Amino acid sequence: MILLTPTYDPWGVVASLLVATFASYVALDLSRRVRTRERGVALAWWIGGSLVMGTGIWSMHFVGMLAFRLPIELGYTRLLTLVSWFAAVAVSAVALGVAGHGRLGLRRLALGALLMGAGICAMHYLGMAALDMSPAIVWNGPLVAASALIAVAASAAALSIFWWLRQGDERRLSLRQAGAALVMGLAICGMHYTGMAAAGFPADAVCLSAGVLGGNSLGTIVALASVTLLALTLFTSVLDARLQDRAARLARSLREANGQLREANEALRRQALLDGLTGLPNRRLFEEQLKAALARGARAGGRTGHAGETTLPADPPRLAVLFVDLDGFKPVNDSFGHDTGDLVLCQTAARLRGAVRAADTLARVGGDEFLVLMQDLSGPADAVTLARRLIETVSRPIELQQRTLQISCSVGIVVYPDDGQADRLVAHADAAMYAAKRAGGATWAMFESRMDAGALEQLGLAGELRQAVERGELLLHYQPKVDAQHGTICGVEALLRWRHPTRGLVSPAVFVPIAERFGLIGQLGAWVIDEACRQMAQWADAGVRIRVAINLSVHQLREDGLVEHVDAALRRHHLHASQLLCEITESVAMDDIAATQRTFGGLGRLGVYLAIDDFGTGYSSLACLRQLPARQLKIDRSFVGDLETSEAARSVVDAVIHLSHRLGLIVVAEGVETRGQRDLLREMGCDQYQGYLFARPMPADELLDWALGARPEADVSFSPSTVGMLDAA
Ligand code: C2E
Ligand code: MG
Ligand code: MG
Repeated sequence: MILLTPTYDPWGVVASLLVATFASYVALDLSRRVRTRERGVALAWWIGGSLVMGTGIWSMHFVGMLAFRLPIELGYTRLLTLVSWFAAVAVSAVALGVAGHGRLGLRRLALGALLMGAGICAMHYLGMAALDMSPAIVWNGPLVAASALIAVAASAAALSIFWWLRQGDERRLSLRQAGAALVMGLAICGMHYTGMAAAGFPADAVCLSAGVLGGNSLGTIVALASVTLLALTLFTSVLDARLQDRAARLARSLREANGQLREANEALRRQALLDGLTGLPNRRLFEEQLKAALARGARAGGRTGHAGETTLPADPPRLAVLFVDLDGFKPVNDSFGHDTGDLVLCQTAARLRGAVRAADTLARVGGDEFLVLMQDLSGPADAVTLARRLIETVSRPIELQQRTLQISCSVGIVVYPDDGQADRLVAHADAAMYAAKRAGGATWAMFESRMDAGALEQLGLAGELRQAVERGELLLHYQPKVDAQHGTICGVEALLRWRHPTRGLVSPAVFVPIAERFGLIGQLGAWVIDEACRQMAQWADAGVRIRVAINLSVHQLREDGLVEHVDAALRRHHLHASQLLCEITESVAMDDIAATQRTFGGLGRLGVYLAIDDFGTGYSSLACLRQLPARQLKIDRSFVGDLETSEAARSVVDAVIHLSHRLGLIVVAEGVETRGQRDLLREMGCDQYQGYLFARPMPADELLDWALGARPEADVSFSPSTVGMLDAA
C-alpha cells in the first residue's frame, strides 16, 4: 500500500519537548505538595494537580500533532478528544497518588508504571482515534508495541525520579528537578513520536473530521492556555511550599524553645530546692516538706475511728524538728580557708545523712546550719536519741589531706504537737539550739516556751512600726538601674528604710515581714507609693525625669483599692503612668496567679510598667510568665553572685536571658558587685544592671549628684542629657 509521507516541523517538535518538560517540572513540584501532612491540603493539591498536569501532558500531544504535517488537512472529533483529555488527567492522578505515598516499593513502582504507561498509551491512541480517517490508519504492530514499552519505561523512570528527589537534601533541588523533568520530557516525546511513526496514512486517505477541531490556531491556543495554566500552578506551588516551610520552621523553633524552657525550668528547680555544695535539700524544700507533714498530721488527727468503734479523734502523729548548728566551724573556715571549710561541710553533711533514718528529711539551711524533720515518732525520746547520734557522729575526727580536725555540734529539738506552734517550729528549734550553745555546745536542748524571746521582740517592733509612719521615721533610698549598652540610668528602685530612734537604720528585710505579719503593710505600701510619686514630681521640677520602681507586697496585690490608689497618686503629682514601675517578687506573683493577673491587669491598663522581681527564687515555670503582662524580669542576686564560680548559675542565667528575650521581656541583673559578673552578663545579652558595682541605694538628694558625676571605676558615664531621658523600662 502506498502511504503518505509525513514531515515534521522542527520548531513544533522543539515546542512539544518544551511543553512536555515543563509539564514534568510542574508535576515534580506538585508531587511534593501532595505529601504535606495536612490531609485537606494534600487532597486539594492532588485533585487540582491531576487536572493541571493532565492538561499539560494532553496539550503536549496536541503540540506534537501540530508539528506533524501531511499533505491533507487534519482535524479531530470532539468526543474522542475529550476522552483523551480524561485519560491524561487519570494518568496524572495515578502518578501523583503513587508519588504521594510514603514508600515506593518495587511492587508499587511496577504497578504504578504499568497503570501510567497504559494511561499514556490510552491518551495517545484515543487522540489518534480522534482523527477520523478514511481509509483508516494502518498501524505498524512492532512500533506500537515499542511505543507502549517506552510509555511504561518512561513512567517507571518518572516515578523513580519522584522518589529519588524526595530522598535528597534540599540543596540544589530545583536544578535536580529540572534535570529530571528534561529526562521525563524526552521520554514522553519518545513515546509520542514512536507512536506517530507506527501510524501509516494511505495515499488516498481523507480526514472526515477535518472541519471539526483543528487548524494551527486551535493548537496554538490550547498550547498557550495549558502553558499558562502550568505556570500559574507552579507559582502557587512554590508559594505554598514557602508558606509551609515557614510554618515548619516556626513549629521547629517553638519546639526547641519549649525544650529549652523545660531544661531551664528543671535547672531552676534544682537550683531552687537543693543546696549547691552538699546536694542536700535547702530551706525551701525543707519548709515544703514540713508543711506537707503538718497537713498530713492534721488530716490524720481529724480522722475518727471506724463505725462501731468509739469515735474519739485520734492523736495527730508526732513530728520533730531538729536544728543542728556546728560548733567551732567559723574558726576552721577562717584559719584554713573556704576550701577546707567546704570539705568539712560536705563530710559533715554525709555523716548526718548516714545518721538520720531514711524517712527523715535532712536539709542544709545556712552556712553551718542543718535541719532534720522526723516524722511518726512515738515520743520526744526518739528525737533525743537521734540528737545524741548526730552529736556523736559529728564529733568524730575529720581526716583531711594534711590534718585532722575535730568539731562538734549543738542540737535544738522541738516536738509537735507536744511543745510547738505549727508555724514556728523552725524558730523554736533554733531557739532551743541557742540554749544548747549557751550550755557550752556539743549538746542538745529541748524547746521550752521561755526560750521564745524572738517572738516578744517582734511584738515590740510591730508596735513601734505602727507609729513609724506618723512619726516620719520611714524614708526611701534609691538605687540606679544601669543600661548595659550605653551606661546610662534607666531608672531607680525605691527601697524602704526605717530610721528607728534607737536601732538606727533598719533593713526592710527585718521589718517588711513584721509589717506583713501584723497587718501593717497596707499602710506602709501606701506611704511608699505616695512618697515615690512625690519624689518623681520633685525631680521632674528640677528638669530630670527618672522612672522609679517600687516594690509591692503580696498583701497589696490582694488589696482592692491598690489600682485606684496608684492612679490617684499619679494624678496628684501630674505624672505619666509609665514613669512608675511596680516590682513584685516572683514567688509571690506565681503563688496567687489569679490575683497577680487581676492587679497587673489593672495597673497595666493605667499604663504602669510591671516587673518580676527576684526571679529564680520561686522556681516557677518560665512558661507561666507568659500569662503576666510584665515588661521586666529581674534575675535574683543569688544567681548573679554565683556567676563567676558556678557553671550551673551561668547556664541558668544564660537560659533565662534568652527565654526572657523571646518572651519580649527586658532583663535586669540584681546584685552586680564585680566587673567579672558585669562582663559575663554583658556577654549573655543582659539589658540592665543593678548593684553595688555601680551604686548602693542612697537618699534622693545624693542620687542626682551621683548621676551627674562620671564613674570611671565602673566604666559608666552619665551626662546630664542622658539622665533626663526616660529610657525603655
Ligand atoms: P529587692 O526588691 O530585690 O531589692 C534589692 C535588694 O538588693 C535591696 O536590699 C538592695 O539594697 C540589695 N542590693 C542591691 N545591689 C546589691 C548588691 O550588689 N549586693 C547585695 N548584696 N545586695 C544588693 P534591701 O534594700 O535591703 O531590700 C530588701 C528587700 O526588701 C527588697 O528586695 C524588697 O523585696 C523588700 N523591700 C524593699 N523596699 C520595699 C517596699 O517599699 N515595699 C515592699 N513590700 N518591700 C520592700
Ligand atoms: Mg525590688
Ligand atoms: Mg530583687
